[in-house]
Formats: sequence, C-alpha cells, structure tokens
Amino acid sequence: MKLWADFHTHTKYSHGTGTIRQNVEVAAKKGLSVIGISEHGPANIGVGTAPDDFERMREEVEILKSNFAGIRILLGCEANIISLDGDLDVSDKILSKLDYVMVGLHPLVWARSLKNAYYLMIENMLQWRIQWLRTKVTDRNTKALIRAVKNHKIAIVTHPGLHLPVDTAALAQIAAQCGTALEINAGHGYMTEEYVRIAKKYGVKFAIGSDAHKPSDVGNFKRGLEIAEKAGLTEDDIINATRVPEMTIINLSNIDLHS
Ligand SMILES: [Zn+2]
Ligand SMILES: [Zn+2]
Repeated sequence: MKLWADFHTHTKYSHGTGTIRQNVEVAAKKGLSVIGISEHGPANIGVGTAPDDFERMREEVEILKSNFAGIRILLGCEANIISLDGDLDVSDKILSKLDYVMVGLHPLVWARSLKNAYYLMIENMLQWRIQWLRTKVTDRNTKALIRAVKNHKIAIVTHPGLHLPVDTAALAQIAAQCGTALEINAGHGYMTEEYVRIAKKYGVKFAIGSDAHKPSDVGNFKRGLEIAEKAGLTEDDIINATRVPEMTIINLSNIDLHS
C-alpha cells in the first residue's frame, strides 16, 4: 500500500525541530504528492502555536508553493478541545488561514474554564490511578470529541485513544456520518489494531499520519501501515492511500487532491 500524503507534520512554530521548507523538502524527496503542515493549536500548554503565527505560516506556504511545483502544500492545524462542548482553540480568524483542521485530545491544554480544566485535564490524570473514574472520563472525552466533530468541519481526529481514553465505537459512528477520518498515528501507534478493527465496523475512513516532529520523520508511515494491514484495511479505507477520487477527504476544505 502506498501513501501519497502526510497530513500530520510539525515544525518550529510549535515544538518540532524543522522549518516548513524542510518538511516540504523531505516530503518531495520521498515522493509524496501532498504535504500538510499541522501545528498544535494555541491552547497546548508549553507547545501551542502563537495565534499570529498562523498568518506567517500561510505567507510562507504561499511562497513555497512557487518553489515546489510537484507537491501540494497545505496548511492545516492540530486543534485542541478546550471544553466539554467540543469548542476548539482556533478562532475564526485562524480558521480562515487554514486548508483543513484536525482535532486531537492532548493531556495539557488551557481549557475554557476551571470546570472544563478539571474534566479535561485533572480527571484525565486521575483516571490512570483511580480505576472507577475511567468510565466517566472516557464518556466525557468521547462526548467532547463527538461535539467537536459535529460542530466543526474536521478532516481528521488525531491519535484517538492516546493518553486520554475514548469510546472508539461511538466516535467512529459519528465520524463516519460527518466525513471525518480517524488517524492511525505512525509516531505513537494509536489507534491500535484493536481500535481500528472496532472503528472499521462503522464504515469510518482512516488517515495514516507521521506526526513528524523533525523533518526526517515526514512521510514515515511504517508503524501506521503495519497497524492498518494487521487490522485488514485496504487502500479504500484510508484517505491518503485511496486512488478513488470521490473517496478522498470530504472535509478537507473542498480541495480536490486528485486534480
Ligand atoms: Zn497530537
Ligand atoms: Zn501532532
């Protein structure tokens, strides 16, 4: 199975080590036809991207486009959920600069309010030690993600199940309805093979992302491909593997990646 796009890569704008240009160079060298720059949303504690930097990134991407004719360069982001209502940490102003939006649950996020911080951060930490909290926390995480997917145009949910537990079946069901793909993250190994098998039953699509934090990792899909293959996925289950145009990313800003 050959993947032609990497939608999940980081740069120095958050806590990656390379520049946008370096990520694009590696992607082009590895023969990808699409590269997405997807920085962390501003609410990630310590590693969030400054809101104004999205404008700078857009300018950089536009300049790079004329230097790299053989590859599509997209500007996305890995937004955070900052409330149980599924609110995102990207303003309309930031959204207007982006080609696509991914969303992921991360353990350290500036939440919208103290109450939301308690549920999204503190309880998620506690559930590792306090077993009986786990079901409640999983339910809250899942509802927040589902609301985000329903209320926003989300291309991909990144690494479901990593660090913060989610109900994979419930998420997959809604993601399938909303045209949102679930990521198999090659860096972290989430979703696991078991989660992928559960999600596939609901007809959801998957995306394999490198989650590269250094340029040399761009397009490194090995672990993600292994999970996909073990779980029995085919090219048409995976938005960056499929050759069928109409099955390509529904929520990717109406960009026809096959044109
Ligand atoms: Zn992430
Ligand atoms: Zn990431």
